[in-house]
Amino acid sequence: MRNLVLVLGDQLDDHSSAFDGFDPAQDCILMVEARGEGERVWSHKARTVLFLSAMRHFAERLRARGWPVTYHTLDDVPQGGLVEVIAHYLGDCRPETLVLVEPGEYWLEGALREATAAAGCRLELRLDTHFIVSRADFMRWAKGYKQLRMEFFYRHVRQQTGILMDGKEPVGGAWNFDAENRANFGKKGPGLVPAHAGFAPDATTRAVMAAVKRHFPDNPGALDDFDWPVTREQALAALQDFVEHRLELFGRYQDAMWTAQPFLYHARLSAALNLKLLDPREVVDAALVSLQAGRAGLASVEGFVRQIIGWREFIRGVYWLEMPGMAEANHFGHTRGLPRWFWTGQTHMACQRAAIGQTLCHGYAHHIQRLMVTGLFGLLAEIDPRQVAHWYLAVYVDAVEWVELPNVAGMALYANGGRFTSKPYAASGAYIQRMSNYCTGCHYDPGKKTGEDACPLTTLYWHFLDRHEAELGGSPRTALMVKNLQRLSAEERAAVRARAEDLLGRLEQL
Ligand SMILES: Cc1cc2nc3c(=O)[nH]c(=O)nc-3n(C[C@H](O)[C@H](O)[C@H](O)COP(=O)(O)OP(=O)(O)OC[C@H]3O[C@@H](n4cnc5c(N)ncnc54)[C@H](O)[C@@H]3O)c2cc1C
Ligand code: SF4
Repeated sequence: MRNLVLVLGDQLDDHSSAFDGFDPAQDCILMVEARGEGERVWSHKARTVLFLSAMRHFAERLRARGWPVTYHTLDDVPQGGLVEVIAHYLGDCRPETLVLVEPGEYWLEGALREATAAAGCRLELRLDTHFIVSRADFMRWAKGYKQLRMEFFYRHVRQQTGILMDGKEPVGGAWNFDAENRANFGKKGPGLVPAHAGFAPDATTRAVMAAVKRHFPDNPGALDDFDWPVTREQALAALQDFVEHRLELFGRYQDAMWTAQPFLYHARLSAALNLKLLDPREVVDAALVSLQAGRAGLASVEGFVRQIIGWREFIRGVYWLEMPGMAEANHFGHTRGLPRWFWTGQTHMACQRAAIGQTLCHGYAHHIQRLMVTGLFGLLAEIDPRQVAHWYLAVYVDAVEWVELPNVAGMALYANGGRFTSKPYAASGAYIQRMSNYCTGCHYDPGKKTGEDACPLTTLYWHFLDRHEAELGGSPRTALMVKNLQRLSAEERAAVRARAEDLLGRLEQL
């Protein structure tokens, strides 16, 4: 065999560079469902089903091209971790070269180098053309900056690609309309949100569900409401549905939250993008068509485009720039264990209950729920960043390490000391009260920092400022928070400390 072409679960791209020059007479494709991966990352059942079902559908697509595909299912032997199974096929097929697109996980690249060296075959890593900015181009861009900021990168990408540009100027005269992206739903709530396109499990998905239940009965999460797109056609339909029905209000309500409304105006496209069923350029094009047709305004479309060509590409760049250090980073030296209720949602805090509950149900929470509800708790409750990152990698259908880890360690927990964020995302319960209805009827009171019914997030926010007063006071972005802290009397600060110590000592009971 000339080339064994490995297609990983998050590389389901029709136009993958791994297929360049593919010759069915000399080459073969390998796809592996590794049982050991379900054990390495204790994954939500919906996440596993999504990956495996999409892989099986993609394998059929490749076979329809008349290409030979060796597909290793969860039931096949040998069983074990991904690299172990690949090593078995390297021994079995004896290819001259193992070809694949650069993987999305740092550890895998190293492990594949070792496995191919041991098997005496060449490893050829090809460029991941799915991304708009290559790893090398990001490194070059980053070299020019002491502090990496998404906003500068985003402007750079817009200038390079001409997206939302009017010559050298941004369309509409401003680079971003962030200030228009922060509305809440008021007291009345969101009303009728257009339902998203869901995709009922077909025979392939149902077979995967049965296998996942059999192999991973104790893994977290439910499958009852599984309706994620698992094919390219479904992913395109989900994209069309979003730009036609929800993009218009995406920008305005991007940060808002509401009980029993898990998706609101969000795209639900991250998993399809990360599996590469969708190309980011076509996602952006679809949004731009909506703008041109007058179906969505500039503030919404710019806000959405910023997520795709700004945040998503930036996050990937910093992952490769900062690994492997990012996985171990712990700026504040936090060491507490993740409370067990993160796996059940059984807590008295209504906001955490809502965000974790929908996560276990759908494998989904939107950005502000991840950042300013569960992530905020992780930061303020001083949880070990590795435990928090492990949870996020396990529970979201869109979780792949290159995107999960920088968002958790870098954004939510400030674990790498602000390499690419200007300040920790610390806030009190007042923020959640403003952006949602969660606090109505919660066991706790968001306005209180001390006392039996004080909101744990509010108490722990003031405690966080108190503990890090010197560091936060020295930065212009957080100095105002510290000034507010310094307005408290010595007694009030002592009471916050006492209440915080009490809460931190019994995180399991909150
Ligand atoms: C702590 C934390 C963990 C996260 N973990 C993941 C993860 O494992 N996988 C993942 O894809 N996203 C992750 N995100 C980013 C973001 O929350 C999700 O991409 C988004 O919620 C997915 O839902 P959606 O498709 O409805 O997105 P929308 O809110 O509709 O946004 C549109 C698209 O923009 C992209 N996007 C938006 N924000 C980001 C971001 N910060 N980083 C990268 N892409 C972004 C996504 O592709 C998303 O589909 C995380 C964010 C935080 C704060
Ligand atoms: S009061 Fe505090 S714990 Fe309760 S929902 Fe509001 S922010 Fe969350």
